[in-house]
Amino acid sequence: MDRIGFIGLGIMGGPMAKNLLKVGYSLTVLDINPQSVDELVKAGATSAEDPCDVARESDIVITMLPDSPDVEKVVLGEEGVIQGIKEGALFIDMSTIAPAMSIKIYEALQDKNVQSLDAPVSGGYMGAENGTLSIMIGGDRTAFDRAFPVFQTLGKNIVYMGETGAGQVTKTCNQIIVGVTLQAVSEALTLAKAAEVDLNKVRQALLGGFAQSKVLDHQGERIIEGNFEPGFKLKLHRKDLNISLETGKEQQVPLPCTAIVAQLMDAGMAQGFGESDHTTITKIFKSTDRA
Ligand code: NAD
Repeated sequence: MDRIGFIGLGIMGGPMAKNLLKVGYSLTVLDINPQSVDELVKAGATSAEDPCDVARESDIVITMLPDSPDVEKVVLGEEGVIQGIKEGALFIDMSTIAPAMSIKIYEALQDKNVQSLDAPVSGGYMGAENGTLSIMIGGDRTAFDRAFPVFQTLGKNIVYMGETGAGQVTKTCNQIIVGVTLQAVSEALTLAKAAEVDLNKVRQALLGGFAQSKVLDHQGERIIEGNFEPGFKLKLHRKDLNISLETGKEQQVPLPCTAIVAQLMDAGMAQGFGESDHTTITKIFKSTDRA
């Protein structure tokens, strides 16, 4: 069995790494948060000093980090993965980052005879915990085939998208739909509350019709319960919409709804909700929240 290195053990990476341990992979892990590392070591993983050290011990290295600069530093920086990774090894980034960064990393690793995939995910912490993520993969087909057993452990809907960066382009489309839908759900529930209609009944009724969506189901429930523990941090979704808007600019595709939601998320961040769940964007309508 391939030896796996896993870097970034947060809300998503922690449970994903545990699922790999459960099916018998030997795992070397790293996170800047020692508590996250301790939890994985208790579950049977070995800890490493730095990304280079992780790569030296692994046949496959996976990253699940917040943003493009984090992945760039961990992979291409001093003591980075690139310094320790062996010829013939495989690198898989499962974070949500800019497609251009995936291509930069792919090219740098190719020079070392190392294959690389961009494999962002959707399905949230529940998908990470249950091994039911949707995984969208860009890169060489041979690398995809090699990684397939790993993806099967982490997810259920595994789709090969095409060349490097295609996985991240797909993920940014996902984030547009989730973000704009979340805004629609927030507005609808705020209106129903102001009109003193039972929110649980609104959600129940709408889930059976054309407004049905996972966002109304899961995020709608969170909004009604007032549960804003992350989940998916607002600041990370805002980061994702930046990737969408940049990609839109590169492709000369206007994304007006995305731009508005990004602005509303900025308002939420300015009110201190960056570390809370992205459903907190509903709170910026508090002035209209009469219940
Ligand atoms: P998180 O903030 O919970 O976890 C990120 C982890 O990376 C943290 O534990 C942090 O300590 C660690 N880290 C940061 N810099 C590091 C470094 N230099 N070296 C080692 N570790 C470092 O975030 P998350 O929610 O797990 O999201 C991770 C990625 O997955 C993001 O790109 C996010 O957009 C994406 N994503 C998140 C969700 C979700 O629902 N939370 C769903 C799909 C995709």
